[in-house]
Amino acid sequence: MTLLEIEDLTVTYRTGGGPVPAVRGVSLSLDAGQKLGLAGESGCGKSTVALALLRLLPPTATLGGRILFEGEDVLTMSWGRLRAVRWAGTSIVFQGAMHSLNPVHRIGAQIAEPILLHERVTQAVADRRVDELLTQVGLPPERAQAYPHELSGGQRQRVMIAMALACNPRLIVADEPTTALDVMVQAQILRLIEDLVRDSDISLMMISHDLAVLAGTCDRLAVMYAGRVVEEGPARQVFESGRHPYSSALSDAFPRIGDPASRLRPRGLAGDPPDPADLPSGCSFHPRCPSARDICDDIDPQLWPAGEATRAACVLVLPDQGEGLLAPAEEVAR
Ligand code: SF4
Repeated sequence: MTLLEIEDLTVTYRTGGGPVPAVRGVSLSLDAGQKLGLAGESGCGKSTVALALLRLLPPTATLGGRILFEGEDVLTMSWGRLRAVRWAGTSIVFQGAMHSLNPVHRIGAQIAEPILLHERVTQAVADRRVDELLTQVGLPPERAQAYPHELSGGQRQRVMIAMALACNPRLIVADEPTTALDVMVQAQILRLIEDLVRDSDISLMMISHDLAVLAGTCDRLAVMYAGRVVEEGPARQVFESGRHPYSSALSDAFPRIGDPASRLRPRGLAGDPPDPADLPSGCSFHPRCPSARDICDDIDPQLWPAGEATRAACVLVLPDQGEGLLAPAEEVAR
């Protein structure tokens, strides 16, 4: 059953310098119990998509398209209905738990707050639930009395996960949940998230710049560049044999265990993603693409079928490598 359907989502920020398109026609879907990874460098629009799911963007953002959560469009929901969907339908684990937790409140009170608001239970019931949640994320219940600064980074991230689980949501969005953590703690947190979503049959959308992390955790991967999805497919397949040159570059940027060559010489990608206010013509990846050809600054690639259950926005996946797309315009000119 489809839990989340994003249809042609656009997010444009109004700025003093004019409109800035941060997300440009993203369409994705997520089935109940499925784990979808959203990958890309900073500034590619993946966190903006995550925030749009619960209408958490600032008032300067204009949204278009549809975000159907269990068939209801989040973008046109009343505020009352949206409040009900936040936490109980979808919850978010943000990166950098220290910025998300209130430093002057004990963590038990912070986890209990959405339970008290949404489930309207007594304080004693909420406190019992907090104890259960802390145990579930591997923390002793006594830590409910701690303030955020008394916990380590990994423990704080566990608290964030406990908060996300508090109202039994159907979908958890984890936005770079392990970025600020060391490698050992990162592995523990990833395992915890995997176990919890599997055991509770919760769907997961995980956002990261680290393709390897997403490939190890998710069923499907969507790679974003310049506000668009440029490849989508089974996670392992996109990670190991991505059809879009950007997916391959992201994958090659990380050393692989058991491959000394990649460890000694991880290949990076020169340059930076484009300024959303000043996008290149044609394929927005062409100024950095190692496989670019003459037609790439004329053609705006769409997500074309690129193998089993995979789509990629690159002319290289077309049988004629995109030459046919130029033909009608050339014929008209003649
Ligand atoms: Fe590279 Fe051209 Fe494909 Fe864009 S369309 S990713 S520039 S080969």
